[in-house]
Amino acid sequence: MILKELELAQYRNFERVQVHFDAPIVLFVGPNAQGKTNMLESIYVLAMAKSHRTSKDKELIKWEEPFARLSCRADRRTGPVHLDIQLTSKGKKAKINQLEQRRLSDYIGAINAVMFAPEDLSIVKGSPVIRRRFLDMEIGQVSKSYLYHILQYQKLIQQRNLAMKELQMGKPFGDMLDIYNAQMAHLAAKVLNKRFGFMDKLERWGQEIHAQITQGRETLTLSYESTLPVTPDMSESEAEEAAYRHLTSIKDREIARGTSLAGPHRDDIHFFINGTSVHQYGSQGQQRTTALSLKLAEIELIHQEVGEYPLLLLDDVLSELDADRQSHLLHNIKDRVQTFVTTTGVEGLYHQTLQQAAIYRVK
Ligand code: ATP
Ligand code: MG
Repeated sequence: MILKELELAQYRNFERVQVHFDAPIVLFVGPNAQGKTNMLESIYVLAMAKSHRTSKDKELIKWEEPFARLSCRADRRTGPVHLDIQLTSKGKKAKINQLEQRRLSDYIGAINAVMFAPEDLSIVKGSPVIRRRFLDMEIGQVSKSYLYHILQYQKLIQQRNLAMKELQMGKPFGDMLDIYNAQMAHLAAKVLNKRFGFMDKLERWGQEIHAQITQGRETLTLSYESTLPVTPDMSESEAEEAAYRHLTSIKDREIARGTSLAGPHRDDIHFFINGTSVHQYGSQGQQRTTALSLKLAEIELIHQEVGEYPLLLLDDVLSELDADRQSHLLHNIKDRVQTFVTTTGVEGLYHQTLQQAAIYRVK
């Protein structure tokens, strides 16, 4: 897909911007604090209906203003789409071709984008919360049913945690907990099924790309650590049953702790290079390469799922890669993936990158 036009009003530090794009590589160039990341972020927000760096939509609205508006025009294989998001302190409205989407899950996926920013290193180095968010955002982008189920699941966990607190304080609860457990097992089985499938594809693509980048010296493997006794070989109904049985068995422990101890909201994923944990033992370079391989794998995955390549958003990362890795990256995405890059200067960029690029000065 190709982004043709972007229009922002009262968004972050921009009063009003209107830009047209036609090059396969778009460079946003300018000194610090001019709004380069804000530009990339706006494209991401148009794709995902939320920012990659904050969950507070209010931060996206220009200070002192009542609302922000983002819109874009993109060409997809199926035809042109016009997207529009309006943010106020009360909430957001999202439209596809002028039609307001009642649920955000109906909106997300109207265009696809993969962002690679310095903070993505935390997918490898950071806490499990970041990796779960990575899973949820990326799977949600290609699967509306996943998005629906994970939202239901998160709501249920909140209610269940409140129930656990009450039980902990000795309030009678009847068989409510059993009902929660049944609902939770049902949703957990659906969520896990999609996560296992995603991990499998992510590993396949990630491994291939990682091997290319490291010229065959490193083998990347992934694993999913489930807090429920559910495995990828189980059918959804077997998974549901196993989850339900487990939840029943840990009931006393959960009540004592006053919280939900097992389920997709507590799971984690792990990355290994030649069998060794990247999180624990990986060098900076290995961690960065792992994160890059995962992001490039996502591009292929989205292509496979939606039949079209997503937009690629690279925030401050291209100039950090040496000429070899830049050329590898560009070789990988050549002519297929429209790429938006932020950088403070073009000096560090490989000449072939520049040849295909249109430069936009941001100030
Ligand atoms: P760097 O090269 O340092 O990464 P950048 O060009 O990517 O810089 P941005 O992160 O896009 O810079 O931020 C530009 C400016 O936008 C910041 O100085 C920030 O204070 C400002 N800004 C962020 N949010 C808002 C907002 N809601 N309203 C007004 N200004 C904002
Ligand atoms: Mg920036």
